[in-house]
Amino acid sequence: MRQRLSSEPDRYRGRRRVPTPPRSRYAAVVTTAFVGAGIVALGANALPDAKSVSPSVLDQLKQASVTSQDASARADSADRASRDSRTDSKAATEQDVWLLPLHGYEFNTPYGVRWGKLHTGIDLVAPEGTPYIAIHDGTVTKAGWFGGYGYAVIVQHPDGSEAIYGHSSEVTVQEGQQVKAGDQLGLVGNTGHAYGPQLHLEVHVNGQPLDPVPWLKDRGVDIQLQIEAIYSDVAAS
Ligand SMILES: [Zn+2]
Repeated sequence: MRQRLSSEPDRYRGRRRVPTPPRSRYAAVVTTAFVGAGIVALGANALPDAKSVSPSVLDQLKQASVTSQDASARADSADRASRDSRTDSKAATEQDVWLLPLHGYEFNTPYGVRWGKLHTGIDLVAPEGTPYIAIHDGTVTKAGWFGGYGYAVIVQHPDGSEAIYGHSSEVTVQEGQQVKAGDQLGLVGNTGHAYGPQLHLEVHVNGQPLDPVPWLKDRGVDIQLQIEAIYSDVAAS
């Protein structure tokens, strides 16, 4: 597990881990959330403790988080322009962002032996055509037909690990493209060796597949509970 920054009750710290005065950062993120998603009613006071927030509110927040990313990115650019001295540390901390590949899925098949064969990833069942996003920054090293994976995207992350997204109905990136965590990669589908529309997510470290569930949990993403670090950081401290 990585060291948590502090028990500072700032719900938004986990997403960007910016080593700046937390109050100002908090205000900035809340502002972009207002701009991006209009979650006025879900401001700072609505977030005392993720565990006491009802699942439907959490779901709204998750959606708000996704839809506010563009606004957040724009705000970050403005930040950079006005505070050049912070650019380096910000660039480094942005690489700490890990996200769920999509929301509202059914966690179907875990990593492990299935029908006498190793299932090298996890299957997240979602309606055909549901957009899925990059769980982390990286370079697209594959975008197209990939045997049993069907239409697939592979993203290599700066730490050398790779994420494979399989069974897409369509891929929406190109090989060689740089992506940020949260950028759309493709649409959920049923291509290759799939059993209905689903996203097959696979993580390779040193070229070998491993169970993405504990590995992503170490990075603040609980793929079974569908929770990202932004909501669980304090609880996990
Ligand atoms: Zn699978």
